[in-house]
Amino acid sequence: MQAEVCDAALEALKSHFGYDQFRFRQAEIVQTLINGGDALVLMPTGGGKSVCYQIPSMLRDGVGIVISPLIALMQDQVNALNTLGIRASFLNSSQTFEARQVVEQLLRDENLDLLYVSPERLNTGDFFSLLSNIRIALFAIDEAHCVSQWGHDFRADYLRLKVLHETFPQVPRIALTATADRRTRDEIVQQLGLQNASRFVNSFDRPNIFYRISEGQSNRQRLWQFIEDNHENDAGIVYCLSRKNVESVADWLAAKGRIALPYHAGMSNQQRALHQNRFLVEEGVIIVATIAFGMGIDKPDVRFVAHLNMPRTIEAYYQETGRAGRDGQPANAWLAYGIQDVINLRMVNQQSEAHEGYKIQQHQKLEAMLGLCEQVGCRRQTLLAYFDEVMEQPCKHCDNCLQPPSTWNATEAARKALSCVYRTGQRFGINYVVDILLGKTDERIERNGHHRISTWGIGQDLSNKQWRSLFRQLLAFAYLESDADLHGGLRLTQLARPLLSGDESLHLREVSESSSKTRRGSKRIVIEQTNQPLFERLRKLRKSLADENDVPPYVIFHDKTLHEMAAIQPLDIEQLSEIGGVGEKKLQRFGKAFLTEIEDFVVEEA
Ligand code: ADP
Ligand code: ZN
Repeated sequence: MQAEVCDAALEALKSHFGYDQFRFRQAEIVQTLINGGDALVLMPTGGGKSVCYQIPSMLRDGVGIVISPLIALMQDQVNALNTLGIRASFLNSSQTFEARQVVEQLLRDENLDLLYVSPERLNTGDFFSLLSNIRIALFAIDEAHCVSQWGHDFRADYLRLKVLHETFPQVPRIALTATADRRTRDEIVQQLGLQNASRFVNSFDRPNIFYRISEGQSNRQRLWQFIEDNHENDAGIVYCLSRKNVESVADWLAAKGRIALPYHAGMSNQQRALHQNRFLVEEGVIIVATIAFGMGIDKPDVRFVAHLNMPRTIEAYYQETGRAGRDGQPANAWLAYGIQDVINLRMVNQQSEAHEGYKIQQHQKLEAMLGLCEQVGCRRQTLLAYFDEVMEQPCKHCDNCLQPPSTWNATEAARKALSCVYRTGQRFGINYVVDILLGKTDERIERNGHHRISTWGIGQDLSNKQWRSLFRQLLAFAYLESDADLHGGLRLTQLARPLLSGDESLHLREVSESSSKTRRGSKRIVIEQTNQPLFERLRKLRKSLADENDVPPYVIFHDKTLHEMAAIQPLDIEQLSEIGGVGEKKLQRFGKAFLTEIEDFVVEEA
């Protein structure tokens, strides 16, 4: 595949980005665009989508127009490109009129390789007429899943992007996304009119991410344990559902001595921008956020993503966890949830004003998410299967693979539980039914006469916790459903019948009394540490250069590049240029400083 791509593209990859080879199918994609063809690219986060349109934009005549919904990030993206010696700029609603004029002039003068625009901006009449007067290298539609109503980031403005093709049919287009189950993919093709585009679907596997999911109580305590065990100094993201939780978890982590900053839609734009910026620029910052945070954040060294609530869908979970480890170095995805999450999410969905079809979709997606959480097999196999990808063998790099959960024959207990739901009239929630099974009484139970029914007290062989786990799994596997009209009251489904009649048996994940605690030191994340003292010195140098240039440290060089420098200890520009991530421009600007630092280190060591 490498052979297919022209020398100029490889040359650009080396001189601007500092990489020797295209990876995955980048080469084919780049060549398709250079030849004037359309492409649909599905690649996981961190796969390297950007160079797929950046390089063709540089090599083709005219400017590459990149449509992206990520207004807040455009400035950073453009800064990073400028650091690489690429002529890039952006247009969006956050700019002043004057700033916009400057960019428009650059465009007219054909002094740009790349222009990032928001879809809102693009859909204005004067921008279209501006485009008609210049040469366009290509259109890149980033985050293309925003066009899909089935997806979770739908943007109405994306629907109008089809007009691009109608107006400029000769300009090649590339649509890119990291989210794609088959339905979303089909919708992208249809909505953007990409039926004839070449498709490049890469594996969605993120082999460097370790997945861990657990249910139980005291989530915060467990989160802290996890962070302390694995990520003492690392940057990470913690997702919570509510703003209130975001605030209190951030305070709590801060009290433990970490730099932890809240981020949610209730904060002022200014405050949010400040926190996002600190997360990018400083090292080891934890952002505690609602889902409002993170789309398109391309900080490569996020070492963990933690969820303190269950995400709504597998797509959302995969996209959020995908923000970890974009540099390919080991990273953790950690999720702890409680049964209340499931009940809440179901209720929100059932009570929403959306049309019935949509609600059913959302319901199915939530069930799939729950299935992932409750399953006993390999997480990665399930995740990939959800994206229509078959993984033959278990991954050996997730919690279930490493420590297979034990199962138990829950047939008898499930029958008790289901009959108890039935006998109490299919209108009570889990707490109530469990109390009946355990033979408890209170005023409500007596009023209903439920202390006299046959299932009262038949469940004393299991603990309250075990019963709750059983109910959750019965819900997850749809033997039971909970009804929003009855405030979470439980009802039997069709599936319950064969289980009740003894035609079917059930084996479930075991919940031991202690399983809610994370096992200490279960799997430490070890970042390749080749020469730690030198690495630390290079890191300091990087930070001071970053501050000087007003960019985040990783824009200077990635951790991976520093580790390589620390290991190889290059002594001249020639050797330094061999290191991954060191392009010509950066060599010119920062090469000397890093060589001096390495030399000093070597001398002092001797
Ligand atoms: P995506 O947009 O797919 O999430 P990016 O385009 O941000 O991913 O790329 C992810 C990381 O991979 C970036 O740090 C980028 O510099 C790096 N990268 C891209 N292409 C290559 C390559 N051919 N070789 C090595 N690293 C690459
Ligand atoms: Zn696995």
